[in-house]
Amino acid sequence: MILGYQEELLEVNGEYDYHSRSYHFTPIKETPRGAIATAAMMLCKECRTVIKSMGGGGTRCYCLKCYDALKLFDFAEGHTHTILEN
Ligand SMILES: [Zn+2]
Repeated sequence: MILGYQEELLEVNGEYDYHSRSYHFTPIKETPRGAIATAAMMLCKECRTVIKSMGGGGTRCYCLKCYDALKLFDFAEGHTHTILEN
C-alpha cells in the first residue's frame, strides 16, 4: 500500500542541489514488520498529516492528497513527475 510520495533530491554532477526540484518521486510504503526504522513520525510537508509513524525525517514527503495537488500544479507548470520504484 502506498502512503504517500517523497521527492528525491536533485543530483547535479554528483552533488545534491537542496534548493531545486527534481520532480522524481518514490512511493512511501509502510515499513515492513521487523525492519529497523527511525523512530520518528513522517509528516506531510504541506498539511503536516502523519504519513507514517516510523521511518520519518524525510524532507519532501507528501501525503496522497497533497501529492495529487502538487502533481496537478506541476503539470500545469509544464513539469512531469517521474515515479521511481523503491
Ligand atoms: Zn498532506
